[in-house]
Amino acid sequence: MPIKVLQSDVVSKIAAGEVVERPVSVVKELVENSLDAGATEIAVEAQGGGVELIKVSDNGAGIPSSELELAFHRYATSKIANLDDLDKISSLGFRGEALPSIATVAEVEIFTQTSSRTVGSYMYLRKGEVIRKESRARAPGTTVSVRRLFRYFPARLKFLKSANTENSHIAHLVSQYALAFPEVKFNLVLDKRLSLQTTGHGDLCEVVGKIYGSELAQRMLKVEQRDGPAKVSGLTSPPSLTRSNRNYLSFFVNRRWVHSPLLTRAAEEAYHGLLMDGQHPIVVINVSLPPQELDVNIHPAKAQIKFCQEQVVFSCVRKAVEEALGRTPIASQKAVSFSANSGHWQSPRMIMDNEPAFLASQLPTLELPLLRVLGQLGNTYIIAEGPDGLYLIDQHSAHERILYDRILAQWSQQAVEVQGLLQPVTIEFSPREEETLKTSKELLAGFGFTIEPFGNRSYLIRTIPALMARANIIEIITALLDSLASKESLNPWEERAAQSLACHGAIRAGQQLSNEEIRELIKQLEQTKQPRACPHGRPTMIHLSAHQLEKEFGRIS
Ligand code: ADP
Ligand code: MG
Repeated sequence: MPIKVLQSDVVSKIAAGEVVERPVSVVKELVENSLDAGATEIAVEAQGGGVELIKVSDNGAGIPSSELELAFHRYATSKIANLDDLDKISSLGFRGEALPSIATVAEVEIFTQTSSRTVGSYMYLRKGEVIRKESRARAPGTTVSVRRLFRYFPARLKFLKSANTENSHIAHLVSQYALAFPEVKFNLVLDKRLSLQTTGHGDLCEVVGKIYGSELAQRMLKVEQRDGPAKVSGLTSPPSLTRSNRNYLSFFVNRRWVHSPLLTRAAEEAYHGLLMDGQHPIVVINVSLPPQELDVNIHPAKAQIKFCQEQVVFSCVRKAVEEALGRTPIASQKAVSFSANSGHWQSPRMIMDNEPAFLASQLPTLELPLLRVLGQLGNTYIIAEGPDGLYLIDQHSAHERILYDRILAQWSQQAVEVQGLLQPVTIEFSPREEETLKTSKELLAGFGFTIEPFGNRSYLIRTIPALMARANIIEIITALLDSLASKESLNPWEERAAQSLACHGAIRAGQQLSNEEIRELIKQLEQTKQPRACPHGRPTMIHLSAHQLEKEFGRIS
């Protein structure tokens, strides 16, 4: 085919596809517009995962009737005027692409009024074209309703996940904006049910409480730091309060919600040596910078940004979190070496029997030889002697393997041993966790969890799997919901669930075990199908054969 410039309808479809990837993208653009309009109250409503309806109402500045059509033109914006402005953006939007893009992929109704002295205007658009426009009274502010999203884009529609999954994305997004703007009153209704409501009193800790539960919020530590042009503020969790993934780290730059590996690393480095492997903090941090210090124009959905002075921002955030944790830089150095001594003994690579990077599925089913327990190393590894040399066993991985096999076996025989709790445990889920819970209720019941609603995102846990009797129930359930919601894993859900339960139910590194307990652990490990690898495929043990030992000590060449 010869080269041709694409027709404008094709161009706008392509552009719309970049802005509106899924329902939550619409919510993001509309909420950002409301915030840019200075709203102090924003109500978000979604139905059917946002495909049926997304409605965002605000009490912001409104759009003058004379400009209403223009707002739906591509590259029409009131937020920047020239090239210089692009270098110092202080609004969330600036490209003038959102409203036209949304109108291309859905039916849009907008209802807006600028001040109480004028009459409001109403406009209805289908396939990007204005079908109707008229005057209608409204209190100052704007309401945008988006219906039948992707109706004419069957390919997009097909790739959307269930309504509950889309709802959970929306819940997460609105929660993030509520964290970024504590002075704005947010109201989120999903499928006619109130999912989140903040007061707009301007208290970040209060918003954290509304999202993650007030008990958690009370334990958070205040973060505050200033370094040159950067100002860092927010809340961070004490080392005793962790989660098993990074979903609970929220970063904002000039109150724009961003995905920033740099900021994540800065915060997590502050915890170095304080958290166990696989544990992550809960962080809510805003970095304020003069707009010239960053480029927000590098990502179609503006989810990524670039800092002019990465190093300054990085160390400012790390220092801020370190200080919140009561660590001076020197103290944190100490902690590093301490953890190196007590935790991870790295054996030289050449003498390792098993390559650490192997996959569980490639492992032959290997039985364990009879082992004689010699002791425990750093409360983390079990040292044992076998007929052919030395075995170092990772107590956590080993117990994980045992629990994983048992959980899956009980589950597949529909014979999960259940333990009732004398005193039911109360748990408060975040809006996003609650959405996952709705889709996974039966699955959780199949694994022995009975969870009853107790009003207002609170739930009562009445039974748990007996195998988890000694574990931290709240941690186990939140980790389980996270792993079920994660998009990354392609494993069947029962395997993911068993993995998560095993990981969080297992003995920890650093836990002292009696000889009796060690012997019992090894006996149980021997009975598993793959005693040499944990369910994630990591080795449970390192074997140094008699031959290797002799070679290392130069007894043979
Ligand atoms: P951008 O936000 O990048 O300017 P949009 O397409 O999202 O582009 O919006 C176009 C224009 O419509 C905005 O610049 C703003 O002037 C106006 N607008 C959109 N939503 C609102 C709202 N909720 N309140 C007031 N004005 C709005
Ligand atoms: Mg916008």
